[in-house]
Amino acid sequence: MYKVKIIKNFSSAHNLRGYEGNCENLHGHNWRVEAALKGDKLDNVGMLVDFRVLKRALNAILDDLDHKYLNEHEAFKVINPTSENIAKYIFDTLGKTFPNMVDSVTIWESDDACATYTES
Ligand SMILES: [Zn+2]
Repeated sequence: MYKVKIIKNFSSAHNLRGYEGNCENLHGHNWRVEAALKGDKLDNVGMLVDFRVLKRALNAILDDLDHKYLNEHEAFKVINPTSENIAKYIFDTLGKTFPNMVDSVTIWESDDACATYTES
């Protein structure tokens, strides 16, 4: 099995509904996103996926989240925009471009705290 991973960043604000503590208040993060694809077959060039294609797909997803108030985003109007839920949202959305190839998505909300969503 081959795995490839790219790392991107975006900035946005959120607050956590129903959380008793600081995070209930509006605040921002510089999120770091690690997106990994997997597969057992390479193309005739020897690539699992062209990094440019993967970057373009992830950029399109992150452009939609960057400099936004995540609680107003369609994906987080009901569920909280926690690192866990953002990871699953990006995992699912990336999966529309790369069916059955998304290995994991990790969201760092600070230098020492991250959440990963995976189905394997
Ligand atoms: Zn937060």
